[in-house]
Amino acid sequence: MEKKSVSVVTNCHICNILNNEILDKSINEWLIDHYSGEHIEPLSIAALTNRFNEQLLQYYFLKQHPNIDPTFDFEVLREYLQEVYLDNDDHIDSKLFSIGNSIIKHFELDPIFLSTRLVAPHTMQHHLQNCLAIRPDKLSSEESLHVKFLQATEFAHKILQSPLDIAINNGLASADTQIDIYIKDITTGEMRPIKEWITKISKGRVI
Ligand SMILES: [Zn+2]
Repeated sequence: MEKKSVSVVTNCHICNILNNEILDKSINEWLIDHYSGEHIEPLSIAALTNRFNEQLLQYYFLKQHPNIDPTFDFEVLREYLQEVYLDNDDHIDSKLFSIGNSIIKHFELDPIFLSTRLVAPHTMQHHLQNCLAIRPDKLSSEESLHVKFLQATEFAHKILQSPLDIAINNGLASADTQIDIYIKDITTGEMRPIKEWITKISKGRVI
């Protein structure tokens, strides 16, 4: 009896890519390691999606040009396709545009075909959490909390700086006035600079 290969179609775009052997299933192990952050520096969903998409672009390039050594960086091609064909961004970096455009022309690639192959971050999130059933570990979520606190602090500094500059220019505040954000313990009344506090909580110390 003839043996037929059955390709399983799922509702997950990434699983379909792997089931159709467009990319090797071993990429799942790479995703698990980098998403869980158990043995290795964790990567964000966006970074995992980008690396996955670059592998996809490499696959389609080699399918079209099996004997040509790609002389460019797939990260550049991915960024170009994303910005020009997916994000509809009006402000495309002119250097990225000219490099991306020349890769497309030189290798006679089909940018619309390629850009519609790319997977979106929410697809990656679905695949990681539902198909592979993994969650980022506690450490990486603490690390991301650390980053969020630092970003929020920087943002607060930024939005306070502009009215402060106006106040200084109008002689309402002295020129050596500086913004400093503190965290207050309402029980002890102790004040701590926020950056010091963030560093302490991210080292897991109880304050
Ligand atoms: Zn999946």
